[in-house]
Amino acid sequence: MRSIQTLRHFTSEPQITVQYPRETKPIPPTYRGMHILEQEKCIDCHLCAKACPVDCIEIEAEHHGRILEWKKFTIDYKKCIFCEFCIPPCPVDCIHMTTEYELATENPDGMVEDLLMWTGLRPEDQEKLEGKAKPAKKEAAPAASGGGGDDVRSRVAAMMAKRKAEKEG
Ligand code: SF4
Ligand code: SF4
Repeated sequence: MRSIQTLRHFTSEPQITVQYPRETKPIPPTYRGMHILEQEKCIDCHLCAKACPVDCIEIEAEHHGRILEWKKFTIDYKKCIFCEFCIPPCPVDCIHMTTEYELATENPDGMVEDLLMWTGLRPEDQEKLEGKAKPAKKEAAPAASGGGGDDVRSRVAAMMAKRKAEKEG
């Protein structure tokens, strides 16, 4: 038995050390990394937050009938255990996990990531609210510094686009 294992060892691919972070290995598409939110689909039902076993999702939005005025949708990656429990309960399939895993930072406060692409109302929603004075669409607030909020978001967005293209191709 041992001799078979030894033979297998001689014929298997050599295990080569990867010089991370200069080199990385491919990440399986099922890897549970950072989240991404399709904000335009989200209905602020909080089912994802309720399913989270460590209470690390915080959502705040004001409802004007069916129109949402967004304040925050954060995940505290200091607490998140990447269990994926928040994904299946979503009734509109708008929160996903990506293969992004590079969360290392010298500032733990930077590990609270805001998944919103915008805060407040979208201009078209503002028009629908018939002249009620509401804040205009603006860029989402950056993560609480150190986490490179917009940087992470754009990397995740680029990665999701690549995955989608790979799936379709
Ligand atoms: S992956 Fe798990 S711990 Fe992280 S936000 Fe989702 S439910 Fe919470
Ligand atoms: S479960 Fe889905 S729709 Fe509901 S708040 Fe979470 S992400 Fe938004």
